[in-house]
Amino acid sequence: MRPKDVYSKKITSEEEQGGYVIVLKDRLSFFPAFGRRFQIVQNGRSRRAMVESYPCSCRGPELPHSHFFVRVKAVKSGDRVSIRKDSKSGARYLLQVQNHPRRNV
Ligand SMILES: [Zn+2]
Repeated sequence: MRPKDVYSKKITSEEEQGGYVIVLKDRLSFFPAFGRRFQIVQNGRSRRAMVESYPCSCRGPELPHSHFFVRVKAVKSGDRVSIRKDSKSGARYLLQVQNHPRRNV
């Protein structure tokens, strides 16, 4: 699978706490336009989602910017989230969570 066809990212503790996956800026075009609703299918269940943002100062107060994210249910730090476009419908995305193999479970 070409990397263009899938958005894949490892979940950080920040994303676990927020219940979302960050959309890196250079991959924003993979998703529908900011604020536009689309369908995400996770574990066979479809729900509405959209690209949202929050203001961030991780590059210092003189470089304010936004981070973009999509809400994801039940992700843990270390999990890998893969989002694919449903080939049948451009407004539908399929989300898979690959659990991180933990030693102490
Ligand atoms: Zn930032």
